[in-house]
Amino acid sequence: MDYTIVIHGGAGTILKQDMTPELELDYKSGLDDALEKAGKILENNGSAIDAVKMANIVLENNILFNAGRGSVFSSNGHHEMDAAIMDGKDLSAGAVTCIHGIKNPIELSYKIMVNKQHVFLSGKGALEFAANEGLELEDDQYFFSEFRYKQWKAISDTDVYLIDHSSVNKEESEKKFGTVGAVAVDKHGNIAAATSTGGMTNKKFGRIGDTPIIGAGTYANNATCAISCTGHGEIFMRAVAAYDVSCLMEYKGLSLQDAMHKVVHEKLIALNGEGGMIGVDAKGNYAMLFNSEGMYRGIKNNKGYKEISIYK
Ligand code: ASP
Repeated sequence: MDYTIVIHGGAGTILKQDMTPELELDYKSGLDDALEKAGKILENNGSAIDAVKMANIVLENNILFNAGRGSVFSSNGHHEMDAAIMDGKDLSAGAVTCIHGIKNPIELSYKIMVNKQHVFLSGKGALEFAANEGLELEDDQYFFSEFRYKQWKAISDTDVYLIDHSSVNKEESEKKFGTVGAVAVDKHGNIAAATSTGGMTNKKFGRIGDTPIIGAGTYANNATCAISCTGHGEIFMRAVAAYDVSCLMEYKGLSLQDAMHKVVHEKLIALNGEGGMIGVDAKGNYAMLFNSEGMYRGIKNNKGYKEISIYK
């Protein structure tokens, strides 16, 4: 059987003229690293769930992306991270919200999933669970980046909440989303999805985005598709975006591409919902769609095809 891994590192107003060649290379090599490490798992007969977890870990460890180490600042000057993972084989899922100090939030979601008792843990309870599971912790310094601190400081006295990567002196309309995510189909025909984020700069503390909500930002079902979203979370939640793609496939018989197109280019746009999503189905079809200027994205499969792109 064939395998495919697809990843994203966020969507938004990502314009070539705002990017230096060096930074562009750094982003691309971060995405490449995630594709290679996750691809190796699939190559060696590993599972889709392990591959999407690995891709998220690699991107969480890269300060350029708004997840794990590179998470943005909330309105109270702290980091609050969200993550979710779902296995399309048996619809098992794990999710966390409003956590801090955990090196890899996706790892915590995974532990919740395999523990099976609950699906979604938040705040202190999630941190206690993480401690019991012996997950790796990091101090505030690890999560600090000058760039994101400045981003937050520029608007911390206001009610504005900004999307990641937005340059502080640009208009609010120049939105960039930096969440990371992955979807994969393995050699056994199983699919999985995982998404991780620091959310949005200056978001109210306690705010939960679409990322950790099963069906909104993350969803996987072998019978339909595996989806990971990035964009203005409030809208993706209201659109139940990831599950809507699955529904269009299940109940209307749409292909993955057509279902994703309808959600990204019709339904989200009707709600003014900027962003994008990546998807695969169990047959190995994949799509990377966005209604914004750009989306950090990449795909690799067993046929030797690899593509890493940023702009439209
Ligand atoms: N969807 C994420 C959120 O609303 C943000 C992003 O994709 O960058 O928290």
